[in-house]
Order: sequence, then C-alpha cells, then structure tokens
Amino acid sequence: MSEIKILPLADWELSSDRPFVVAGPCSAESEEQVLKIASQLDKDKVQLFRAGIWKPRTRPNAFEGVGSIGLKWLQTVKKEYGFKITTEVANVKHVYEALKAGVDVLWIGARTTTNPFAVQEIADALQGVDIPVFVKNPVNPDLELWIGAIERIHQAGINRIGAIHRGFSSYGKSKYRNIPHWQIAIDLKRRLPEVALINDPSHITGNSDLIEMVSQKAMDLNFDGLMIETHNEPSKAWSDAKQQITPFHLHEILNRLVLRDELMDEALLPDTLEELRAKIDQLDNDLLDSLMNRMDVVGKIGEWKKKNNISIYQSSRFEDILEAVREKAISLGLKPEFAEIIFKAIHEESISLQTSVLNTQFEQVKK
Ligand code: PEP
Ligand code: MN
Repeated sequence: MSEIKILPLADWELSSDRPFVVAGPCSAESEEQVLKIASQLDKDKVQLFRAGIWKPRTRPNAFEGVGSIGLKWLQTVKKEYGFKITTEVANVKHVYEALKAGVDVLWIGARTTTNPFAVQEIADALQGVDIPVFVKNPVNPDLELWIGAIERIHQAGINRIGAIHRGFSSYGKSKYRNIPHWQIAIDLKRRLPEVALINDPSHITGNSDLIEMVSQKAMDLNFDGLMIETHNEPSKAWSDAKQQITPFHLHEILNRLVLRDELMDEALLPDTLEELRAKIDQLDNDLLDSLMNRMDVVGKIGEWKKKNNISIYQSSRFEDILEAVREKAISLGLKPEFAEIIFKAIHEESISLQTSVLNTQFEQVKK
C-alpha cells in the first residue's frame, strides 16, 4: 500500500460501539417505504442507513432500482431521522450523483469489485474526495481481487475504508445463497488490519432465518460490524425478499448478540489455555512431519512409476484411499467431508510431486 494510512473504524466520525450496524432495505422502493423503515430503526443501534438506488441484477427486465430519484428520499431520511446514509455506486455517474446528494458513505458492490476497470474508474472519480468507502468482496473467492479493489480506492486518497464480507457465489445447491468462506475474510483482516471488516449476513444466507446465526459467528470472529437488509414488509420487498428482516426483528437480534472480547494480551492467557495452545502447536508440528514423511514415500513411488513406465494417476487407488479415509473419519467422529477435502489437497500435491519426478525434462522450462 502507498503512504496513505487506513484509519481504523474507531477514528471515523460515524463510529460507535461494536458492532457498527448498517441497516435499511435492499432497494429504495418509494419515499414512504424508506421513511417508514427509518422511523422504525433505533438510532442508538444503527449507525448508517442503507438503500440500493441502482441495483445490479443478474437477469435483464428485473427491477433495476428506482434511480436518482431515490437519492432525494435518502436525503429526507437524513434530514428527518438524523441517519447518515449510504448507497451502492457502480460507475462514475453514480459517484457524482451520490456525492452531489450528500450521501455520507459509498459502497462498491460485489459484481463491481470483480472488475478492476470499473473499480479504477470509481477510484479516479473519488480523487480528492474525503468520504468513507466500503468495498464488498468480489463474487468469486479471490482475496487478491478484493485487496486490489481496496488498494485502488486507497490510492485515490481515501483513508476511511471498510470491507464488506457478503460471501461468494458457487454453482449448485448450498445452504447459503453465497458461501461465506470465512477464511478469506480472516485473511483480509490479517493482511489489512486497519480495514473495518463488516459482515453482510443477508447476502451470505439469502434467508432471514439464518441472519442471527451468521451475525453471531461474525462477532465471534471479531468482525467490526454488520450490514443487514431491513424492510418494513419483507415478503413484499421488490428485491431480495427472502433475506430481509423487519427493524423489530433486527433489534431483537442485536440485543441477543453475544460480544466476546478479542484476547489482545497473550500474557493474560490462563495456564490451561496456554497449555492447550502448546498442544495445538505440537499437533500441528506432528501433522507437518507426517506430511513430509508421506511426500518422501510419494517421491519413491514416483521413481518406481518412472522406471516401470506407469502413469501417475491410478483412479481406483485414489478411490480406495478416499473411501478408507471417509470411514476412518466417521469412526473418529470427524466429518467425512472434511477428511475428504484434506486428502484431495494432499493428493493434488502428491500428483504434482510425481509429475516433476517423472518429467525431469521440464525442469529447465520451469526455471
Ligand atoms: C446489496 O447490498 O443489495 C447488493 C446488491 O449486494 P451485493 O453487491 O453483495 O450482491
Ligand atoms: Mn440485496
């Protein structure tokens, strides 16, 4: 990153206690609708009022947002209820209109973050403007693309930057609308510790029944805040009806959230926890030793295959290994899918090692 420092959320003018909460409808639908929702939201609990004005939709001919007229309604929310306001911007025109209308915070949507040209154009339009910007994760699980978008905004001189974790799309059925891949958000915070990390359980779950569970998990992972879609009549919402909750429901969830402290001072660790951590470190070491020993054997088999002109991949052998691993996992009380993921990764690495054993002629090319 350049010399501009990212300001931690605590130093933003609109911050308050954890969690920092962004609430409001997926889409602004009418002036009455946004005003009604704002009137039902508790200002002590919600720091920022959200509403989409320009909606990126997957298929054409769906409701694509009310457009600029909605900015006037957001201004009224600000004036009458004192909320700071935020909306999604996806191009330069959106940026200019939102700035002109006094929008307090901008956010970049998941589909836009995927496209470096679009993000760069938004960043260029923000040169010299002092406004906080939230960058949603890209729709695909690519940490570098997410960080790249944040860097582009940062390089435009913006120093109040937040990251919104809204999950990642996948093909096929899943419990979630967008798979969370929590590790990506954790890695982002590790790489950019000052970035305000906000979880969006609405777009992760796509299901109002799961919002509380995911919000609690985000708090347990030390997220700074939550963005939760809130509608006065969720079932009648013009977009994302299944995942929106009423302001009343939002307040119930916020009241029930358990906020645990992050352990900042390792010296305060109780003995038992320290001992348990030492055990974990030892087990991790053992795991790595075992992996190294396994790779040794894999290399030897590679030599044998080379001598006997046998191909690397023997499908029935891998199926047998997977079957044995799944059975063993079940008997140990581990999830078989978990064991399968690990062994697929190990197998991939084994294949890669044997490929280089069998094909030393490519070594030159690799270097
Ligand atoms: C939204 O917040 O309404 C939205 C469109 O989100 P995302 O960019 O995460 O899909
Ligand atoms: Mn939405």
